[in-house]
Amino acid sequence: MKEYSLIIKGQKVAGNGGNFDVLNPATEEVVALCPQASLEQLDEAVVAAQACFETWQYSSHDERKKLLHDIADRIEVNAAELAQIVVEEQGKPMFLAQAEVGGAVAWTRATADLELPIDILEENESKRIEIHRKPLGVVGSITPWNWPLMIAVWHIMPAIRSGNTVVSKPSGLTPLNTLRLVEIINEVAPPGLVNIVTGEGDIGNGMTKHQGIRKIVFTGSTPTGQTIMRGAADNLKRLTLELGGNDAGIVLADADPAAIAEAIFQTSFLNMGQTCAALKRLYVHDSIYEEMCEKLAEVAAKQVVGNGQTEGVTFGPIQNRKQLNLVNGLVEDARANGARVLCGGSPIEGAGYFYPPTIVADVTDGCRLVDEEQFGPVLPVIRYSDVEDAIKRANAADVGLGGSVWSSDTAKAAKIAARLECGTAWVNGHAELLPYAPFGGCKMSGFGVEFGQEGLLEYTSAQVININK
Ligand code: NDP
Repeated sequence: MKEYSLIIKGQKVAGNGGNFDVLNPATEEVVALCPQASLEQLDEAVVAAQACFETWQYSSHDERKKLLHDIADRIEVNAAELAQIVVEEQGKPMFLAQAEVGGAVAWTRATADLELPIDILEENESKRIEIHRKPLGVVGSITPWNWPLMIAVWHIMPAIRSGNTVVSKPSGLTPLNTLRLVEIINEVAPPGLVNIVTGEGDIGNGMTKHQGIRKIVFTGSTPTGQTIMRGAADNLKRLTLELGGNDAGIVLADADPAAIAEAIFQTSFLNMGQTCAALKRLYVHDSIYEEMCEKLAEVAAKQVVGNGQTEGVTFGPIQNRKQLNLVNGLVEDARANGARVLCGGSPIEGAGYFYPPTIVADVTDGCRLVDEEQFGPVLPVIRYSDVEDAIKRANAADVGLGGSVWSSDTAKAAKIAARLECGTAWVNGHAELLPYAPFGGCKMSGFGVEFGQEGLLEYTSAQVININK
C-alpha cells in the first residue's frame, strides 16, 4: 500500500499522528495511506514558510515567472500519474481528470504571466508617488474534495507569484493529488516555499487560528467559511472565501430546448454536479417546460455511469457517502412532496457511491431540493410564467456565486443576467471559469475573487511610497 509524506521545508516527513485511509469512491477500497500531521508539524511548516518568505518576498518577477513555468512543465511531465490519482481518490471519469490536470497547467502558466507593476500615482518636479503591491507573508490554503488538484493550483500559484509562501491543507477525503503536486513543486522550488500538512480534524482549524499565517484562501462550505472567519479574527488574517452556491438558470420562452439541453445538462452535472459554480436550479418558462424536461432526461439517459477508470464511462460516483446521503435525502424529500422524478432518483446498489443523473420536475421554491445546495447529480426543474417572478426567485437565495439566462435573444438575456445577484452571470452557458476573469461570489457565497489581475492583488497589500524630491 502506497504511503505518502508531508512536505515541510522541502523534506518528506511522516505524519506524527500516523496515517489514515483514503478511499476510492467507486469501490470503497483503500487507495493509499495519508499522513496525519500533528499541530507541532503545522507549526514547523509555518516556520519553514516564514523563513523562506524572508528571501522570496524580494525575488524578482522574472524569477517567479520562471518558477511557475518550471512547475507547469513538471506537472505536464507527471500528468498521467496525477490524473490517475485524481480518478482513484476523487472518482471523476478519466477524461475529466485529464482536463483537471490540463487546467492546472493552463492556470499555472496564465498566473505566471500576470504582471504586478509599480504604478505611478503622481510624478512632477517636486514629487513622485508610487504604489507597490507587497506580498503578505505565509498564506494558508484550505481546499475541498471536488476539484482538488485544480483548486490547489488556484490557491498556490497566485500566492507564490505575488511573493508569498504557502502552507497547503487539502481535504482529508482527497489529499493524495495535492501531496504529489507539492512534491512536484518542491523539485524546482526553494525549500519552504510550498509546504503541505494533511490530516483530519484539527489541522484546518489550527491554520485558521495560527498567528504565523497572514492570509487564508479557502474553498468549501459556507459553515466552514464562517468558522474560518471567526478564527481569523485574532490576528486579522486576510481572507478569500469561495463558498457554496445555489446557482439559478432561467430559460426564457424564446429558447430552443433541443438546442440547449446538452449545454444545460453538462453545466449542471459537471463533475457529477459537485462543482461550486454548477447550475443547481433551473427555472423554465411554462410554454416550453415539458419539452425542456424531456430533452434533459434524454441527455441524462445517454450517460454511462461507472468507475472512472473504465473506458467509455462518462459519469462517476459521488465522492463520499455523506454527500451521497445528502443528495438521496433531498430527492426523497422532493418525491414525498409530489415531485416527478424523470430519470435516476435512487442510489445504485453495490460497492461505490453511485447515483445516476437525476432530473426532477414539478418542484418549486420552498422545497429543500430547490432551496438547498445539492452539490450532486440531481437537477430540479421549476416552472415559471412571469420572468420578473423568476428573477425574484433566483435572487431570493442567500448565496450568490453564479447564475445564467438562456435565450435566442442574447441582448435581452444579457439585461436579465445583469440583474442576477451573483459574482458571474452567463448567457447561454454556465460554470465556465477563465484564468483571466475574476471569479467569486456575493452574499453568503463568500468574498474576494480568484484569477486574473484582481485575483492576484488579493495576495498583496498596497504600500504607497511618497517621495518629496
Ligand atoms: P468543508 O467546508 O467542511 O471542507 C472543505 C475543507 O475545509 C476541507 O479541507 C476540510 O478539511 C476543511 N475544514 C473543515 N473544517 C474546518 C475548520 N473548522 N477550519 C478549517 N478548515 C476546515 O466541506 P465538506 O467536505 O464538509 O462538504 C460539505 C458541503 O460543502 C458540500 O455539501 C458542498 O455543499 C460544499 N462544498 C463546496 C465546495 C465548493 O467548491 N465551494 C467544495 C466542497 C464542498 P477536512 O477534510 O480535513 O475536514
